[in-house]
Amino acid sequence: MLQDRHLIPLKPALYNDFACPECGALRPEGVKVMVLGKQTAAEYKCRECGLDLVRDLPAGFTVDLPIAWRLSDKKPYHPANGIAEDWAAYPDYQVPSTERYNGRRKVFKEYKRIVILNTIDHLYGHVLLKLFNAQHYLDEHPDIGLVVIVPKMFEWLVPDGVAESWVFDIKLKEAWGWNAGIDNFVHEQWHRYDEIYLAPGYSHPEFSKIDIERFSRVKPMELDEYLTAPPHITFVARRDRLWYSSPFTKFVHRALKKVGLFADIAVWWQDRLVANAISEVRGQIPEATFTVVGLAKPGGMPAGVEDLRTMRMSLETELAWCHAYAKSQVAVGVHGSNMILPTAHAAGCVEILPYDRYGNIVQDISVRYDDRMQLFLYRFTDEFATSTSIARHVISMFKDYGIYRLDNRVNIF
Ligand SMILES: [Zn+2]
Repeated sequence: MLQDRHLIPLKPALYNDFACPECGALRPEGVKVMVLGKQTAAEYKCRECGLDLVRDLPAGFTVDLPIAWRLSDKKPYHPANGIAEDWAAYPDYQVPSTERYNGRRKVFKEYKRIVILNTIDHLYGHVLLKLFNAQHYLDEHPDIGLVVIVPKMFEWLVPDGVAESWVFDIKLKEAWGWNAGIDNFVHEQWHRYDEIYLAPGYSHPEFSKIDIERFSRVKPMELDEYLTAPPHITFVARRDRLWYSSPFTKFVHRALKKVGLFADIAVWWQDRLVANAISEVRGQIPEATFTVVGLAKPGGMPAGVEDLRTMRMSLETELAWCHAYAKSQVAVGVHGSNMILPTAHAAGCVEILPYDRYGNIVQDISVRYDDRMQLFLYRFTDEFATSTSIARHVISMFKDYGIYRLDNRVNIF
């Protein structure tokens, strides 16, 4: 089997490059792989002390902190570098679910050697980020077929060139739990292949190398058209991730929500902030056009604004939003996974960054540049940014772009 840290061996040899957590004997014997939904683990038996255990494979969001647990009583063994997530102890993992989520194997090209990329996750952004790992295998390992395990709602983003996709009609929240139905489906395919690897599914693949058009089939805005394309700005305005004008309005909204009153008032406030920012940008750039997207009810925007918000997602809506991002020099929105696709297609962004997300800065940005253009094109504002401060950034990103680019992209060695 190949020795490559981006290819975790599963068959014929199962990854076992660790010590028994009970007695320290190296390389416990691999018994079987377990694809439980979000979790990809494996069962082992220690050749020395006989311990039967399950351990996370070094993939997904547990890549650095794998948990191991004793099969007989789920006693957890944490890794030496910290406390791992003891998922086996969670209620959702007590009784395996046999639901198969209408799992289907779609074959585009038969391979005897495959690498499996499991993108199932209970968080929307995590599925996307794991899916972006596909490009590495398509380009670097054309001799190994890439098999993507994907929730149906993300199937439209599976790139051309994959050998197979295994599609599950699974909701995000169902990814969390012991999905024995998915595990069974995966094992029913096992005999077809001579060699199987697992892709680690890194959570933050280097995005400047990723070609989003291979995923969305929508051509993103390129910097050489930044000044020639008509100025366009897309606002991402979700009703569940709100832009507040002040700590006081945030407090009032939370208090009202608690007592079940005026839950929508903050959505209305947010609409006012967006509308005011649009008016201010128009004051300086009269030819600018605007789109508003997001899971929310449409309405309340100034005349001429394209309002694509909806409470019901569909493939048509996903694509309409991507086309709006792709004609945008700037996407504006509150921090969150809702910014991954906008920044993958738009040239830049202004992001409202809540105080409790400072540790997550840029994680939701598809950073398309590897030079100083990053600082110009990805701007982060205070949680309680005013409409004026957002508009000021947007206006600068148009008016100052030409000289900034010359100084930092052209007049350099
Ligand atoms: Zn042992």
